[in-house]
Amino acid sequence: MYDPLRHNSPGCGEKYPDSYWASVSGIDASVNSAVSSTSSGDDGQVTQDLEVDVVIIGAGYTGLSTALHLAKEHGIKAHVLEANQTAWGCSGRNAGFILKSSGRKAYSTMQKQWGEEVMRGVYHEMCEGVETVKNLIAQGIDCDQQAAGFIKVAHKPGMLKELIAQAKLQQTMFGYDVQILTEQDVRQQYMDDHNAYGAIRYQDGFGLNPLKLALGYQRLAREAGAKIHTSSPVIDWREESGKQILTTPKGEVKAQKVVIATNGYTPKGFHGLVKNRTLPVLSQIIVTQPLTDEQIAACNFLTSNVVMDTRALKYYYRKLPDNRILFGGRGAITGKGAEDPYFANRLLEVLKTSFPPLANIKYDYAWSGWICMALDDLPHIFQNEKNTIFYSMGYCGSGVSFSAQAGKRLAQKVAGKSVPNLPLYQKELPKFPFAPLRRVGQWGYFHYGKIKDNYF
Ligand SMILES: Cc1cc2nc3c(=O)[nH]c(=O)nc-3n(C[C@H](O)[C@H](O)[C@H](O)COP(=O)(O)OP(=O)(O)OC[C@H]3O[C@@H](n4cnc5c(N)ncnc54)[C@H](O)[C@@H]3O)c2cc1C
Repeated sequence: MYDPLRHNSPGCGEKYPDSYWASVSGIDASVNSAVSSTSSGDDGQVTQDLEVDVVIIGAGYTGLSTALHLAKEHGIKAHVLEANQTAWGCSGRNAGFILKSSGRKAYSTMQKQWGEEVMRGVYHEMCEGVETVKNLIAQGIDCDQQAAGFIKVAHKPGMLKELIAQAKLQQTMFGYDVQILTEQDVRQQYMDDHNAYGAIRYQDGFGLNPLKLALGYQRLAREAGAKIHTSSPVIDWREESGKQILTTPKGEVKAQKVVIATNGYTPKGFHGLVKNRTLPVLSQIIVTQPLTDEQIAACNFLTSNVVMDTRALKYYYRKLPDNRILFGGRGAITGKGAEDPYFANRLLEVLKTSFPPLANIKYDYAWSGWICMALDDLPHIFQNEKNTIFYSMGYCGSGVSFSAQAGKRLAQKVAGKSVPNLPLYQKELPKFPFAPLRRVGQWGYFHYGKIKDNYF
């Protein structure tokens, strides 16, 4: 599997992974490109030299949202260059949890570091992220949205106290509507998860089909005048007379401005502006066989809310519209090990400890994708001094909603408009010290997490 810390390109025209999403989103299996009614397709490969104003590299949510907002709000019709298929990266592989958050930085830490005003500003942007997604969906994207609710489960009795403290802070600071659920509440009213020792529940997270969402963004962006070129990896990049010249396999694209929207899939040595500033980490998902009515009753699986636990190495799950369970957690450390069934089976075993009546269940789909960690646990939307190269990355595995907002803000930056004065938008991604040892650090963190989750 492509490994961004080892390979110089994610490939060219690679098919979607064999995921549940690829099988239920109207993907034509013979050509493995999107031809569903939710999509009017894309603009195909770049086959000749082009000269354009703005190029966006990467057709995930960030790239597509930037293209859409540039066209709609600023009259700039960008060309998006995607190495493989639209949403071939994280955007077509994720769990589809729409949450009012991104990154991993706690609000209490932001308050200590930057003060209350900045903390509130970041919270406001995260809320706007969800609103931006909802507004785009309302423009006619059919993406199998499920009932609202996000349950954060205490995986140990002691963790409920921490969750309650979090809920109280969010209630007082932001007036956020957070419910506190005892162990009995969770097991009787939502799902009989044997690893749940109470929970807090937000009223406003929800699940959807992430690939259909991306294909919907693509359709809206193209209707607004953007071009989306698939099978067009940028394999070389130089600057001549102030212009950016990007080489793709069948043509060079010359642009005034370039947006890097490659997040966890950014290839090794891609551009100096983002070098050594991210850590790609594999997240793994399995989707089970559909549960029978008896299995659903035995697990008291009443909810289709999105669920995540409090472990350092988190597990997340939800019941899909066809009664399968999507279950996710950490994957392999390197791309080489990514397809080893060990990682999918490990998730299946944890799922069975949560729901013992599913002791004989199997999974029908398993795949993984590269999330993008940032050293300071926060995404950054930044640019070079000349305002010719821009990027947004570092969502730390929580970017489905915020990447839409990031794209909106990136479009403002590219168009020369001002954006809120927040660390998200004004500070660059910090560099990883000892960058060649990032994987060793990750290995160490996984071991620390395992010990913390099991013994403390
Ligand atoms: C298993 C998993 C589960 C997740 N679950 C959730 C969730 O439930 N909720 C949530 O909020 N977040 C989740 N995330 C994270 C979320 O999916 C990402 O934050 C988000 O999709 C990032 O979108 P993006 O557009 O920035 O990047 P991506 O969607 O990764 O797009 C980057 C694109 O850049 C392209 N590219 C790279 N290099 C080049 C090049 N040289 N030339 C051209 N194109 C190039 C790639 O092919 C890729 O398609 C999950 C991630 C994973 C992997």
